Amino acid sequence: VKLGVPKETAAGECRVALVPAVAAQLMAKGLEVRMQPGAGAGAFFADGDYHDVRMVEEPADLYREADVLLRVQPPTPEEIDLLGPETAVLGFLDPLGDPDRVARLRDRGVTAFAMELVPRIARAQSMDALSSQASIAGYKAALLAADLAPRFFPMLTTAAGTVRPAKVLVLGAGVAGLQAIATAHRLGASVFAYDVRPETREQAASLGATFLDLDVSGSAEGGYARELTDEEKRKEQELLGEQIAGMDVVITTAAVPGRPAPVLVREAEVTAMRPGSVIVDLAAETGGNCECTVLDETVRHEGVMIHGPRNVPGKLPVHASEMYARNLANFLDLLVDGGHWGPDWEDEVVAKTVLTRNGEIVPDAVRERVE
Ligand code: NAD
Repeated sequence: VKLGVPKETAAGECRVALVPAVAAQLMAKGLEVRMQPGAGAGAFFADGDYHDVRMVEEPADLYREADVLLRVQPPTPEEIDLLGPETAVLGFLDPLGDPDRVARLRDRGVTAFAMELVPRIARAQSMDALSSQASIAGYKAALLAADLAPRFFPMLTTAAGTVRPAKVLVLGAGVAGLQAIATAHRLGASVFAYDVRPETREQAASLGATFLDLDVSGSAEGGYARELTDEEKRKEQELLGEQIAGMDVVITTAAVPGRPAPVLVREAEVTAMRPGSVIVDLAAETGGNCECTVLDETVRHEGVMIHGPRNVPGKLPVHASEMYARNLANFLDLLVDGGHWGPDWEDEVVAKTVLTRNGEIVPDAVRERVE
């Protein structure tokens, strides 16, 4: 099997789908690796670090020669048109967010695997790219908040007086939220957390957060949250609003798969916060958990700074690429047998991750959206 690793073309994307150590492991298993020169540069991996990897200058050649294309970001329409029907593509493909792209992959006849669809079962943890990237985002969100805040996170007792710790509220205690809690706690903040899934209470507490009790429960299948009813949303917003006003920092990470981000912080709550407070909205790319969020900007609303960063895992490209490449390599183990292409289509992880195959869209939930 020949793997192809192009240079990512999305604006500001510094990650790469394969790092030198993982490329070496795959080649030791009998796979060939071809890359576009400079593909690793954004993550500080030089072409020379990829020993024995063949560099292919022209993307069109790389796409044509590869059996399996490894990507971070979804391919553009032009890139999809470079794929042959025998090619497989593996990467984040935004299956629920972009029906046109899914239709194009289907029409091209390629076998596409969307890393977002890897089931969250114990056996697939080592392939769970959503989790590896979310934990990076959570860590960075706490640092972005600390950087923007005009005050300390830790408590300090100094000759110039005593500083009380910052109060940090993390909304959404999934993978990203838990890492944000842990990071803010390590920085010495007084951390509070809330999630609609009651089972997150203990996880948040074990990382040092005080869980807010709002008595709204929205657990759904597979460990994900469901969208709340209008009445539940109103109750959640009202109860949260009272808490938000007393916080110095709010980090929001709430998401519901395939739905716009739930609004947890309305403009009125932002206005009620003290000037100098900070909101970091990790859901900015899917519409934002805060009404005032503007993607890719830091806006000021009555003295409150609201930051809506894009592609946060990409801000730590070294480790984000290393973890992502390991996720891909572990998944490839299910597709390649003794160096040859041979997916076990009966395997639950393979069956659930495949997005398009033989000119069809495989997951029902995605097919319904496209048709
Ligand atoms: P996610 O990114 O889909 O959502 C982030 C968090 O937002 C979730 O915890 C969700 O409950 C929360 N949320 C949604 N709506 C909300 C609202 N209105 N108010 C407050 N919070 C809201 O979630 P994720 O981080 O990808 O994790 C989802 C689940 O998957 C978790 O249970 C996680 O433990 C589980 N998981 C399991 C495995 C595994 O078993 N292999 C691996 C990774 C994650």
